Amino acid sequence: MKKKTPKGENMVECIWCGKEANEGVKNCYWITPDGKKTVEILSIPAIICPHCEPYVSDEITQKIEEALYLNDIAALGLKFSL
Ligand SMILES: [Zn+2]
Repeated sequence: MKKKTPKGENMVECIWCGKEANEGVKNCYWITPDGKKTVEILSIPAIICPHCEPYVSDEITQKIEEALYLNDIAALGLKFSL
């Protein structure tokens, strides 16, 4: 369920602790499906919970894995580096 903070940011419910968290971004290292390369993907949409470590939702994880599998990470519209 989405709510807005007074500043207009999206509020989300943390799937770990169930408390209110913010949407933000996070840089992550991802191993390609062939296991040969590590890519750094920048500015992945992430959940920033004040009680937990920032993390990437399953939905986004799945999208990134699909894009890596198809070797089409640019389709995600994310910045990345090899
Ligand atoms: Zn949390």
